[in-house]
Amino acid sequence: MILLNETYEFKVAWCKVCDQGWVAIVKAKGTNQYWVQCSECYSEWDHPLHAQLNIHIRETIDPSSEEIQEIGWGEYIIRD
Ligand SMILES: [Zn+2]
Repeated sequence: MILLNETYEFKVAWCKVCDQGWVAIVKAKGTNQYWVQCSECYSEWDHPLHAQLNIHIRETIDPSSEEIQEIGWGEYIIRD
């Protein structure tokens, strides 16, 4: 993501992943979803505090087949 304003008005942390860029608050276009992202390596965190401490709290689990069908992603699964 190229920020036009190089002063990074919304920076919240110096990136601990690449050590080369600022982590700034970003928003997904057309939504009300916000998170923070490094301007250099594009690492993402859910919350400014997570970027400052470089912790990823989001845990992943395997969804059920029913859930996958529900969100309409079943058609993308590669079945050999
Ligand atoms: Zn980075």
